Amino acid sequence: MTIPDWQELGLDFEEKSSEALDFALSELLKQGDIIFLTAFGSEGCIIFKMIADLINQGRLDKTMLIEDLDELKQEASHGRLAIVNLDTGYQFKETLELKDKLETKYGLKVIMLEPKQSVSEQDIEYGKDLFKTDPDQCCYMRKLVPLSNLLQNKLAWVTSIRREQSSHRASALAFEYDKKFKLGKINPLIKWSKSDVWKYIHENQIPYNLLLDQGYDSIGCEPCTSPGEGRKGRWAGQDKIECGLHIQEEEMEQGGEFTI
Ligand code: SF4
Repeated sequence: MTIPDWQELGLDFEEKSSEALDFALSELLKQGDIIFLTAFGSEGCIIFKMIADLINQGRLDKTMLIEDLDELKQEASHGRLAIVNLDTGYQFKETLELKDKLETKYGLKVIMLEPKQSVSEQDIEYGKDLFKTDPDQCCYMRKLVPLSNLLQNKLAWVTSIRREQSSHRASALAFEYDKKFKLGKINPLIKWSKSDVWKYIHENQIPYNLLLDQGYDSIGCEPCTSPGEGRKGRWAGQDKIECGLHIQEEEMEQGGEFTI
């Protein structure tokens, strides 16, 4: 497997970042497995549709899609794509309904990745509602550990982050090397504005989370999400603004919200 120079690719795609997904799935996929991680935010729904478009246009062979968790966990790199959701056990029912709608509309299967412990097992070991007493630890066990294990031996992961979402995301490139998870990171929507996102969703009639019509702007786990602008409704009332998936180690050392 030839590892791309992620930084150089990111700079090359600075003026054409929206083409990053097409390039990744038609060219880079030959070199190793790629994971598209989504929590079914509006941006994630757009990428979901874009993947279906690439299949329909013949730029991505549908047989390259991994639909089974056991197959996904295998070590060998076959150059395949998987769409993955971190199923923390705390997602809104509206989010899970949206997953079903997207799968049906676009004919793509999402692999639900669960943490080692169920919510009730975690409650027994760490006390009830760890998200209240130690949300960093809760995110660590329910999101970071499963994702970190999954990303071993993969070529890259695709995210739906946008630069304007937070200070940690402001300098993201379309392609980067993710030092924390030690693989490439593909961010096709970095330059999209919120209005770009909604224009695209409405024009293409893409299903989206119904909570977004009820004052929520960013949706994660139910106990840690409130209505609010941007990411203000995430961990509202706490210093935390990220679950840690998109914060690199040096930012954490400089006082980032999450410590592994
Ligand atoms: S967002 Fe909240 S409930 Fe979800 S894993 Fe993090 S702390 Fe736990």
